[in-house]
Amino acid sequence: MSIYVTGHKNPDTDSVTAAIAYAALLKAQGEDAIPSRQGEMNPETVTVLERFGVSAPEIMTDATGKTIALVDHNDLLQAPDNLDANNVVAIVDHHKMGDVTTNNPLFCCLKPVGCTGTILKQLYDIEGVAVDTKVAGLMLSAILSDTVNFKSPTCTDEDKKAVAELKEIAGVSDTDELFMAMLKAKSSVDGVPARDLLNRDYKDFDMNGKKVGCGQLELATVDQVAAIRDDLLNAMKEQKGEGGHHTILLMLTDVVKEGTELVVVSDDPSIIEGAFDAKLDGTSMWIPGMMSRKKQVVPTLQKAFGC
Ligand code: MG
Ligand code: MG
Ligand code: MG
Repeated sequence: MSIYVTGHKNPDTDSVTAAIAYAALLKAQGEDAIPSRQGEMNPETVTVLERFGVSAPEIMTDATGKTIALVDHNDLLQAPDNLDANNVVAIVDHHKMGDVTTNNPLFCCLKPVGCTGTILKQLYDIEGVAVDTKVAGLMLSAILSDTVNFKSPTCTDEDKKAVAELKEIAGVSDTDELFMAMLKAKSSVDGVPARDLLNRDYKDFDMNGKKVGCGQLELATVDQVAAIRDDLLNAMKEQKGEGGHHTILLMLTDVVKEGTELVVVSDDPSIIEGAFDAKLDGTSMWIPGMMSRKKQVVPTLQKAFGC
């Protein structure tokens, strides 16, 4: 039985590359593994796959009848449709423990590091499997992306060690240049519909029975979206109406200034103000130092929603 390896819905670079890297590791261990993804790739991921000459994994959105390994997530809302507790044989992730359960023993490796790619490098080492040159380039890119070139508070020494080793294998001498090429691709907003931008890196969460969505755009400067602010706000309202959300947030993260303008559309904006101890100026507020949804937004919101 083939094992389909997949990252989360609205795949980011880590989700796509971790699926490729973990499938390759499973194959090296004699398993029949197929890397997959749950949707279209973002421009950053397209750039990364092109640069290292790797083709895109196939799309897989329905887990019915399939054996599944999850990477870069372990929340049902982000997993393939119809995932059931008999499907899942492995989880490799760097997020909080979610609500995926299994009926059988599984391989599970969750670590509080900056990127799934870092954990995978460690698993390769534990298994004594050499990382393929191209795959090393993908894993390296994912770590730089997820840790925002080491600036995110999620970044650990383990991530830096993995980058140092992977760049040697991949033959990449200048990781800053690689990061800037990725940032250029990921922050391009020209001609992209606002709804697509909102969903480029977006996740839904169940917070004490309330549906809360949070998107993030990593930008070289917040000015990049100056002309489309109203469009983004309308896209958030539209999505909230259709999805029955309590709250939708959009993080406009300025990678250079190292902070986030948090745009808020909510049934009760005071919860969000209270959570971040900041006041909304219209529909948004600037939060210095905020870079990470996983570490700085989700836990704070969960507390505010009484989870
Ligand atoms: Mg991810
Ligand atoms: Mg990740
Ligand atoms: Mg990310």
